[in-house]
Amino acid sequence: MDTATTIAWITRAAELVRADESRLTALDAAIGDGDHGANLARGLAAAVTAMGEKEPESPGKALIAAGRGLVAKTGGASGPLYGTGFRRAGKELGDGGDVGQVGAALEAMLRGIEELGGATQGDKTIIDALAPAVVAFQEAAGNGSDLHAAAEAAADAADAGLAATVPLQARKGRASYLGPRSVGHEDPGAASTALILRALADVTA
Ligand code: ADP
Ligand code: MG
Ligand code: MG
Repeated sequence: MDTATTIAWITRAAELVRADESRLTALDAAIGDGDHGANLARGLAAAVTAMGEKEPESPGKALIAAGRGLVAKTGGASGPLYGTGFRRAGKELGDGGDVGQVGAALEAMLRGIEELGGATQGDKTIIDALAPAVVAFQEAAGNGSDLHAAAEAAADAADAGLAATVPLQARKGRASYLGPRSVGHEDPGAASTALILRALADVTA
């Protein structure tokens, strides 16, 4: 993955989140405080701006700049989580490279978000979309898939992970305050993670 593709990924993610801002907000209104769409649309717009301020020298530096923009401008719990995730992915991605390196970067993103937020799969969070996506990406890469095919596999797995959050009771974040009333809804953060992975599949096509 080169620098231009990396910038295109975040730019596409910002587009997809902006297009689905009201859906993300509605999901968060059901089990949170109704700001996830606005938070992330603002944060990803700031990520795109941050990448444009100084021509990034590498794919990794582009993601680190994006993470900085996200932390600075996304309100709420998701800002530091995504910001840390992208910065960790950027450190791992470095000068870019092949599909295996992108898989390692996605795994670093997952580990960063897990470490900061303390959530594991089944807690009804970002992790429920991201963890299966990383597994699917690495499995596809291991079977010889190119970057696009691996990213498609990851995006499909994230969609399935999002659907699987519906029957779960939230154990982390604001939705956990609802207890059993958090059951029966998609998790907003898992929904935005699915869009971020779909964006990677889109720009590698
Ligand atoms: P806030 O809840 O502060 O308003 P957002 O609405 O932007 O923040 O983000 C809510 C989303 O953040 C949740 O749907 C969930 O996916 C994610 N989230 C919350 N806490 C955690 C956590 N500890 N680990 C991973 N994801 C989390
Ligand atoms: Mg919210
Ligand atoms: Mg909030």
